[in-house]
Amino acid sequence: MEHKAVNALFLGPKSENYPVFKQMLGYMMDDYAEWRRGFHPDDPLVITPSDQEEEGFQATVREMRQVLVELAGLLQMTSVPWFSPRYLGHMTADTLMAANLGYMLALLYNQNNVAYEGSPGTTGLELETGRQLAAMMGYDPAQSWGHLTAGGTIANYEGLWLARNLKSIPHALRRTVPELVAGLDDWALWNLSPASILDLLEQAKQMGCFEQVRAHSVRGQGIPAGGLGKVLVPQSKHYSWVKAMDLLGLGQERLIQIPVQDDYRMDLESLRVTLEALLESHTPVLAVVAVVGTTEEGAVDGVYRIADLRDEFSKRGLSFWLHIDAAYGGYVRSAFLDAQGSFMDLPQMREELQESLSDWPSDHIYQAYQAISRSDSITVDPHKLGYIPYPAGAFLARDRRVVELISYFAAYVFEEAEDNPQLLGSYILEGSKPGAAAAAVWVAHRLVPLHWGGYGRLIGSSIGGARQFYRSLLEQPLFSANGRNYLVLPLTEPDLNIVVYAFNEQGNADLEVMNALNQRICEHGFRPTGPLLSSDFILSKTSLEQKEYRDTPLAFLRRFGIPEEEWRRVGSVFVLRSCVVTPFLARGATFETYWGTFRQSMTKALETL
Ligand SMILES: *Cc1c(COP(=O)(O)O)cnc(C)c1O
Repeated sequence: MEHKAVNALFLGPKSENYPVFKQMLGYMMDDYAEWRRGFHPDDPLVITPSDQEEEGFQATVREMRQVLVELAGLLQMTSVPWFSPRYLGHMTADTLMAANLGYMLALLYNQNNVAYEGSPGTTGLELETGRQLAAMMGYDPAQSWGHLTAGGTIANYEGLWLARNLKSIPHALRRTVPELVAGLDDWALWNLSPASILDLLEQAKQMGCFEQVRAHSVRGQGIPAGGLGKVLVPQSKHYSWVKAMDLLGLGQERLIQIPVQDDYRMDLESLRVTLEALLESHTPVLAVVAVVGTTEEGAVDGVYRIADLRDEFSKRGLSFWLHIDAAYGGYVRSAFLDAQGSFMDLPQMREELQESLSDWPSDHIYQAYQAISRSDSITVDPHKLGYIPYPAGAFLARDRRVVELISYFAAYVFEEAEDNPQLLGSYILEGSKPGAAAAAVWVAHRLVPLHWGGYGRLIGSSIGGARQFYRSLLEQPLFSANGRNYLVLPLTEPDLNIVVYAFNEQGNADLEVMNALNQRICEHGFRPTGPLLSSDFILSKTSLEQKEYRDTPLAFLRRFGIPEEEWRRVGSVFVLRSCVVTPFLARGATFETYWGTFRQSMTKALETL
């Protein structure tokens, strides 16, 4: 079958598919119980029926039930109903039934992917999903390296960790095997390309100097007094990059934040000017990070231009590691791939996608996704647009030799038994980690393939829903309540499926009043006290701060008639944010229903002001 029925993938907002789920869960549990019994079936029972009749036993079981019922109650009182199309808030929606079941099943086997002995099955699944994700991103699965992490944050740390260690290798070579870098001055050593550093490291290995080189790199010696260069991120970056600079000892002051444009994509003219200045002053650049799907706006940076700049500056003597933070937007690349995994041409792609996506992707989005494969490493989160339960992030590197930079034992990862590292924990940032998460990702990828007919269709529905929501905001921007008129405006046309917008009373030019209005609207929908199921319509929110975004939000405010002085005075705009992750909104009748519900809830909120 070419594409999957999205309706069959989730439990459903009304638990419509509960019979399927329950049947499968029951089957899995029965099967698992049999599996235990099947291990030396002749061994005697350890817990006997008469043990089970004892009062103490019975009391303990009753207590267990009570505690679990208490937990169920707590969860029902406090959990956010992600599954409902009335939830258009954070980057969260229902998770795939198959992934949940796969997780639950593997959980029973309690696999620990840190080491092969603890997870002979699920370590393999983790590496297989790593290869699948690498292929989705356009990396050669035979040359690249991919594994799961607890999330995008950890994958970002790992990317910067590798880039950091790599940057220090050429100088370590000069100290240990100088003949390998003969004739290269200091500046040239700072600017060897990632591939050529890895080639040199391989030569050092063949000469038997590998451990010595690593000991003289940052790994053994710490950060040199002058640092290891700057890290460039867009202002729209996830805050894990700021934490990473601290954690890896690089120093937050060496993080340069490149402004974003009015569309919240990295301003590439500004990136160029910054790189020129760094080249001019002979300041090394450790890494440049591009974001594919910013956390706040879902904006997609111009990866194709950034990769061009990397190539151009590398020729001019300034070389750096290019990391793509696609924690959020990574899975969207599946929509660009045909069933063989080839990146489709644009007309073919438009044909394959659903009608609701006739105006997506733009050339910019298309080219950005195509160019992801030109990076050195990538972060992608299965627990975001993979619709897989936590914890599931992933780190991918184009050149698998990079594991040598961080491994704690000689890396036989790829040599001994193809793709069966005995000790995954020695090549990654984390230690003990759930094999169940890998099982969930693997099951999901098996059922929903990483091409247009699988995830592409699923995520396409979510993008379709977001676009309908965006268009509806544009077409019906006026709300009235208690005789007052309000205007709602989207911040930008969404690149993916995140719609950011704000309300303002017509005629109001006071930014503080506008901010308070949006805050009240958000709070009206979301009741953090009392049962969340009584919430009307749940949105998320964010503040675009001047210290973070400089003057980018000003263009948005001007459309509301808020003058520049107000922006200068207040320095922050409170906006509403709807990640339309649910695939169900895109369906015609469903959309009409929930758009009506949205308008009613917003009007109700405005009436209570
Ligand atoms: C969510 C996100 C992260 C962090 O991922 P976690 O899984 O929450 O650790 C990093 N970068 C971007 C762009 C994100 O959207």
